[in-house]
Amino acid sequence: MLSFLYRLPPRLIFGRGRLAELGEHTAPLGRRALLVTGRQAARAAGFTDRAIASLQAAGVETVLFEKALPNPTVANAEAGAKLARAEQCDVVVGLGGGSAMDCAKAIAVGATHDEPLWDFIIAPPGQEKTPATAATLPIVCVPTTAGTASELTPFAVLTNAETKDKAALFSDYIFARVALSDPELTYSVPPDVTANTGLDVFAHAVESYISTVAHPITEACTQEAIRLVALHLRRAVADGSEKEAREQMLIANTLAGFGLSNTGANIMHALEHPLSAHDDSIAHGGGLSALMRAYFPFVAEAAPQKVRRVAELLGEDVTGLSEADACSRAHEALRKLIADVGAPARLRDLGVDRAMFPTYAEDALRYMAGALGKCPRPADREDLIRYLEAAY
Ligand code: NAD
Repeated sequence: MLSFLYRLPPRLIFGRGRLAELGEHTAPLGRRALLVTGRQAARAAGFTDRAIASLQAAGVETVLFEKALPNPTVANAEAGAKLARAEQCDVVVGLGGGSAMDCAKAIAVGATHDEPLWDFIIAPPGQEKTPATAATLPIVCVPTTAGTASELTPFAVLTNAETKDKAALFSDYIFARVALSDPELTYSVPPDVTANTGLDVFAHAVESYISTVAHPITEACTQEAIRLVALHLRRAVADGSEKEAREQMLIANTLAGFGLSNTGANIMHALEHPLSAHDDSIAHGGGLSALMRAYFPFVAEAAPQKVRRVAELLGEDVTGLSEADACSRAHEALRKLIADVGAPARLRDLGVDRAMFPTYAEDALRYMAGALGKCPRPADREDLIRYLEAAY
């Protein structure tokens, strides 16, 4: 018997050139917007000026916070929240990759609640987590990478720079009211970032598809996302101006996001967060790419039919093959995709120190237990260390 929850809150506006509509979609939500971007890419590509012009034309004033860090920290979002309060902003617009969008989403909470932002993410000892409330400022998200789908999820991932913990603020109140997905904004993403973020799409799709809480709607979305990544990621990396490949990768990102929003991720994300929390030079998608080396061998026994289906979606003919051989095909097809796009193949490519594996495993168990709990194969500390060794 089927019984499930499916969330679909953001209003999704998708299409080339639709950044021009930002003001029109933001104006009903507020009159003074905090526009949150990263430090360089959005301005260099002209997106910041275009966003401000569109907001202005619709009568929305703009206050700029061009300071979102890659893998944003709590202090980073708190600085943005302070500015939003001081400037009396009534709507937050996140324009950028997952880092800028997550920073914007956390700012929307920080600007309207007095508790420290980290208390919304991990409960202080002996207390409950602080819940975000309906006071949270409305959020508009404009992605410029095809990767995280933060524009569609109820998560904002932040790093606590003091404790080196990286975890998600999770609340229905941080769903964007509007996700404005314009494929043209992804044309300028460099090849290495295209590869890493494209593999983040793959990780969301495959982890959601294989999740213990997957259901027919998420499975339909995530299977198509896997198929689209297999078909289009190589072209998007080889030629960033390839309009069709970019558009299809943003659709893959969207479909994977519908899965992620409803099932969460599992073991790869649980282990990636400690990696980039301890070394912020590791890109989220790059860490996931390296961790993929161990994924199918780890989950195959627990979800053989789904791994077989993933092999098919990656373009393999697995007719008549044993479960073990179908799993090997999925594994090899993914390794080939990673090699073709030049993404990190192993943890050693990222300069990861093996002596840290017990720490990464313990961190994952401490603050990514929710994600680990949705992996079809349970993992304890020793399993996680073995997983990291296999990906090394
Ligand atoms: P990112 O936002 O850190 O961007 C990566 C790099 O690409 C940056 O240097 C950025 O300036 C540049 N860039 C972005 N758009 C560009 C463009 N159009 N042209 C040129 N350069 C561009 O990377 P990301 O992978 O998009 O986001 C990663 C963050 O998102 C991590 O912190 C990760 O944990 C988080 N995340 C969040 C969710 C969620 O649901 N909220 C899901 C997955 C990951």
